[in-house]
Amino acid sequence: MLSEFELKKQICEIGRRMYEKGFVAANDGNISCRVGRGRYLCTPTLMSKGFLKPADIAVVDDQGRQLEGSLPRTSEILLHLEIFHELSEINAVCHAHPPYATAFAVAGIDVPSNILPEVEIFIGQVPIAEYETPGGKRFAQTILPHLRRKANTILLANHGAVACGKTLEEAYFHLETLDMYCRILLLSKEVGNIRQLPPEKVRELLDIKKRLGIADPRVNGQEVAALAGSDEFLRGFSTRAIAQHTPDANGHGRGQGIAGQPSQAGQAQPMPPGQRFPAVVAGRVLPGADGLGTSSTTARRRAFDDEAERIVQLVTDRIVQLGGSGN
Ligand SMILES: [Zn+2]
Repeated sequence: MLSEFELKKQICEIGRRMYEKGFVAANDGNISCRVGRGRYLCTPTLMSKGFLKPADIAVVDDQGRQLEGSLPRTSEILLHLEIFHELSEINAVCHAHPPYATAFAVAGIDVPSNILPEVEIFIGQVPIAEYETPGGKRFAQTILPHLRRKANTILLANHGAVACGKTLEEAYFHLETLDMYCRILLLSKEVGNIRQLPPEKVRELLDIKKRLGIADPRVNGQEVAALAGSDEFLRGFSTRAIAQHTPDANGHGRGQGIAGQPSQAGQAQPMPPGQRFPAVVAGRVLPGADGLGTSSTTARRRAFDDEAERIVQLVTDRIVQLGGSGN
């Protein structure tokens, strides 16, 4: 068991790694760990995580009240405490805004699963918690349904990611694995199609996970294929507005997006063969641009070219007109 001072040093070290990795900008992010009954260490608010000293680390109780430390504790301590209260085996929490992972949280697109072996074993399916204003109890409780399904890494809609582990390094590794995974997904999509592992291979990975003692809601004799998770990222996007998505019966899937706002989520739809849709440029449907193609990218590009050509023509006409009036 490490001393409190050693744990404070570790928090500073993890903070430095988060900052250097670009997972946090300015004073973003926060880190905490459990040190005993009703006693937790956490980073201070409004301080860069890249340059912390052990003396900067605050000590709080299980309600988030500050017990020790000259700097005020993070304003997001309730999020961390929600995890410590729900999962007794968890001793450390890292919250950051890793850009590749946060891109999925902003887009409201589920991170697809069953693609990379290590990700399946160490993280598993990554849910998206509903958006709520950071800092309060309501914000902290958005992750509760996902904690109950033993998620160790959760995206926060329009915000970032939170990860937990038995140790500080394990919690940080979950964040690092998630962001690297999301980066690989985005790159793979640029290269070509993303191929998912077949269910029998996922089952083998879940067996390894079980042997390692890592919780996963899929390790209950349930059919892996039925729990493959969202594939909307793999299928791509259309420019059509699609009804707001809701999580399925297993609780898998993103939240509702920002309350009261029609979510942009769920727009990923395969275009049925032969079906055509109007092209949209700058948020408006182009007249006469119907039937531009079955690929949204092609359609948008062609529509954009048409629109650009029209604007160039308008500008050219105007110049000629002005030149004429000057004579
Ligand atoms: Zn944050």
